[in-house]
Amino acid sequence: MECIFCKIINKELPADIVFEDDDVIAFNDINPIAPVHVLVIPKRHISSVVDIKSEDSDLMGKLIFTAKKIADNSGVSQKGYKLLFRVGKDGGQEVQHIHLHLIGGKK
Ligand code: 5GP
Ligand code: ZN
Repeated sequence: MECIFCKIINKELPADIVFEDDDVIAFNDINPIAPVHVLVIPKRHISSVVDIKSEDSDLMGKLIFTAKKIADNSGVSQKGYKLLFRVGKDGGQEVQHIHLHLIGGKK
């Protein structure tokens, strides 16, 4: 498997993991664009939002709820933050494993 995020899930690549359960894992972005920059991903490989199916809805909801909890724990919720999915080529998606960016700590 060539996917770098699957390698992080399988602990074949190191990452600064901030949350993990059976379904999702969250880790600090290697190239942060804000004081808080976390990527929240499903453990099951899904390439892009384009590939989401109806049965993935709960998992996608869980990504958002996980990001919300990390934001709360990081102290950025009061001032606000950004949640971002880049999708495909025009969306600027560089890693082909769905990831939700949590970006906070600056405007
Ligand atoms: P995209 O442009 O696909 O939405 O975002 C990919 C993100 O993954 C980028 O912000 C990039 O810095 C981050 N990234 C790429 N490779 C790695 C890695 O090996 N480890 C970590 N922690 N982040 C990565
Ligand atoms: Zn993957």
